[in-house]
Amino acid sequence: MYAEEDYLMLSGIQHFAFCKRQWAMIHIEQQWAENYRTTAGEIMHKKAHDESAFEKRGNLLTVRGLRISSRSLGLSGQCDVVEFHQDENGIDLFGYEGKWNIVPVEYKRGTVKENNADELQLCAQAVCLEEMFQMDIPEGFLYYGENRRRHQVEFTSELRSEVERTADKMHEMFRRGHTPGAKPSKQCKSCSLENLCLPKLQKSGDVRKYIEKNIYGGE
Ligand code: SF4
Repeated sequence: MYAEEDYLMLSGIQHFAFCKRQWAMIHIEQQWAENYRTTAGEIMHKKAHDESAFEKRGNLLTVRGLRISSRSLGLSGQCDVVEFHQDENGIDLFGYEGKWNIVPVEYKRGTVKENNADELQLCAQAVCLEEMFQMDIPEGFLYYGENRRRHQVEFTSELRSEVERTADKMHEMFRRGHTPGAKPSKQCKSCSLENLCLPKLQKSGDVRKYIEKNIYGGE
């Protein structure tokens, strides 16, 4: 269990899954750079949060911008949308009749990614909601702006274990204040921190080795 003062930003789990160096630059070094992707993503999340916070239509209650946290993961953040579906197997909700099930929905600008960064973020949100509402949440949805479709995500034991391991690694790296070196890959092209990270420069090795090799002809 983590103390509240040690909580890290839940949304950082997607940065960590994308590139550990990117996460460390944003969350440890507090560096940030906007590019088209981050700006468009920001606008989309703002739209999701701007609509009225509570909306009830029949058997569906929609809550936007709900603040969440988990002591077991040591993460806190905000959900884009949490849906409460009336269901006899659900839980009591103060101020509302009947029983309710919980389904988190996260909005993403682009389309389904090659890695599982979005699934990890959504599953971490579900773990927070499970701790807060003391109930099991078996699934959630990722809504991608590019195809305007919802993708169902099942919170399997494998995905949950990966969330736990990732959160632990984030805390360990944060405690050490460690920013890993760059590992240039094709994903650097879509990284908002490419101009700050300079991955190609890091790949070229250190200055001493460069001078030894190119000026003195050493190994
Ligand atoms: S430019 Fe590449 S190595 Fe550097 S932070 Fe971004 S993804 Fe990671």
